[in-house]
Amino acid sequence: MSPIELLNTHHLRKTQFREKVLDIFLRHDRALSHRDIESQISEADRITLYRTLRTFEEKGLIHKAIDGSDKLKYALCAGHCDVHAHHDHHAHFHCASCGQTFCIDEVQPPGIQTPPGFVVESTHLIFNGRCALCAN
Ligand SMILES: [Zn+2]
Ligand SMILES: [Zn+2]
Ligand SMILES: [Zn+2]
Repeated sequence: MSPIELLNTHHLRKTQFREKVLDIFLRHDRALSHRDIESQISEADRITLYRTLRTFEEKGLIHKAIDGSDKLKYALCAGHCDVHAHHDHHAHFHCASCGQTFCIDEVQPPGIQTPPGFVVESTHLIFNGRCALCAN
């Protein structure tokens, strides 16, 4: 999908900046931090980046890639998320060597038995190790 198609299917107004940010996500197969994105946009655009990322998350375009580090990272959703709900119940892989975080779409957290009275609202499955690039 192109940035414009993504904006259209999520009913978002097209702006050059939104297209630019989506293009950055599409060109990376890993999760991106604010700083990762900031380094690829102009200084003037940085002010709106925070809001743009929040809008994208609300509309189901990107999700937080929880990787156990203290860095907030976002990754592109697989395509079936929308404004009503995210369905990114997949594992995230955190590379200890390069620090990058990847979505592992094929792996889902297992169902977990909780003590009586406990209600699970989210589960995060995180793999730590070395990514394909660092393992070799
Ligand atoms: Zn999502
Ligand atoms: Zn790595
Ligand atoms: Zn993910």
